[in-house]
Amino acid sequence: MNSIREIILCKYGEVILKGANRSSFEAQLLRDVKRRAAMFGNYDVRAVQSTVYVEPLDDGSAEAVPDVAEQMKKVFGFAAVCRAAVCEKEIVAILETAKAYLPEKLAGVSTFKCESRRSDKRFPLSSPEISGEVGGAILEAIPRLRVDVNAPDVVVKTEIREKYAYVHAGQEHGAGGMPLGSAGKGMLLLSGGIDSPVAGYRMMRRGMTVECVHFESFPYTSEAAREKVFELARELTEYCGKIRVHVISLTHIQEEMRDKCEEDYFTLLLRRFMMKLACRSAEENGCPALITGESLGQVASQTLKAMVVTEDAADRPVFRPLVGMDKEEIVETAREIGTFDTSILPYDDCCTVFTPRHPRTQPELAKVLREEAKIDAEALIEEAWGTRYLVTIKQER
Ligand code: ATP
Ligand code: MG
Repeated sequence: MNSIREIILCKYGEVILKGANRSSFEAQLLRDVKRRAAMFGNYDVRAVQSTVYVEPLDDGSAEAVPDVAEQMKKVFGFAAVCRAAVCEKEIVAILETAKAYLPEKLAGVSTFKCESRRSDKRFPLSSPEISGEVGGAILEAIPRLRVDVNAPDVVVKTEIREKYAYVHAGQEHGAGGMPLGSAGKGMLLLSGGIDSPVAGYRMMRRGMTVECVHFESFPYTSEAAREKVFELARELTEYCGKIRVHVISLTHIQEEMRDKCEEDYFTLLLRRFMMKLACRSAEENGCPALITGESLGQVASQTLKAMVVTEDAADRPVFRPLVGMDKEEIVETAREIGTFDTSILPYDDCCTVFTPRHPRTQPELAKVLREEAKIDAEALIEEAWGTRYLVTIKQER
C-alpha cells in the first residue's frame, strides 16, 4: 500500500466560464489551495486543464492527504474534489494500482461502475475498454462487489492524462462558488445570531473577501457575548483563512435613545446607527458594500418598510444574501458550515437591550427621522466611532 502515490485532484466549477478573467481567478484559487496545503506539509500545487493537482512531496505530507483533501472541499471555486492513485500510463500498471488502491476505498460499498476518460488520445485502449478492464480487476480483487450501471454507490474513474494515469474511487462535492478574493470586499455586520455568519459565508462563496463589524453594548451585553462573536468569526476562518472583526460600542447611543426617544422606534433607530457606523468602517477599510443577515419578514425590523428605513442610513449597497430564505433553510446552512451550535448559545445582543414591547413594523421614514432628531446623532456617532478596536482571527489547524 505504501508504494501507492496518492494525490488530490480538484476540479473547477464556474471559474471555467470566466473567459478573459480566468487567469486572475485561477491565481486566487491557487493562493487559497497553497495556503491550506502548507498548513499540513510540503505539496506541489499546479493547475492543468481545469484541474488543480495537489501532490505530496514527502512521506509526512503523504500521510496528511486526507486532511488536505478535507481542506480542498472548503475552497470556493471547485466543483469536485477527489483523492486518486497515480501510476504510469500502461494498462498493467493501472490494473495493479486499482487492485491495490481500491479495496480500502470501497469498504462498505456494495455496487460500483467504472468510467474512463482519455485526454491522451494516443493511449492504445478506448475509454470503454479501459473501464471494462478496470471493472474486471475490481471484481477480481473484491468479489463481493456488484456492477450497477444505473445507480452505483460509487463511480470508479480512470483518467489518462498528460503525464500519468489516475484511478479514483469516486469524487466528492467541492464548495462551489467563486475563488475567494475574486469579487471585492464586503463589510459584514456580524451579530451573535444564526443569520449573519451564514450571510458572510454566502458572500465569501461568491468570491467576496469579508471583514466584520460587531456592535456591542457593554455592560448591557456581556464579555461572553463578545467571545461568542469571536468564536463565530473563528469558525468562518475555515472558509477564508483570516478575518478581521471591528468592534464598536453602542452603549451611549442606546442609553440616549432610551432616555429621549419613543420606545416603539428603538430598534429602527439602533439599526440606522449600525448602518452609519458600518458604512464608516467600510469606507475606512475599502469595502464598497455592506452585508447583513436580514431575511424578509423574519422579525419586526425586517419588513420591507423597516428595511427601507434602515437602508436610508447607508451610503452604499447593502447585500442581504438571505433575504429570500426561510429560517429553516438558513439553519440548515448554519449546521453545514459549523456555526449553528455557537450561534444558539444564549447570550444577549445589543438588539435585545431595551427592546420595544411594540416595535413598529410599518414605519414611515419621516417619523423615524423626527425621533432621530431628538438626540445628537452626529456627536453620538463620533463618540461611538472612537470606541472601535480591531481583532484579527486566523484559521487554526
Ligand atoms: P442574526 O441571527 O444574524 O443575529 P437576527 O434575525 O437576529 O439576525 P437582527 O437582530 O434584526 O436579526 O439583525 C439583523 C442583521 O443585523 C443581522 O443579521 C446582522 O447582520 C446585523 N446585526 C444585528 N445585530 C448586530 C450586532 N450586534 N452587531 C453587528 N451586526 C448586527
Ligand atoms: Mg441578531
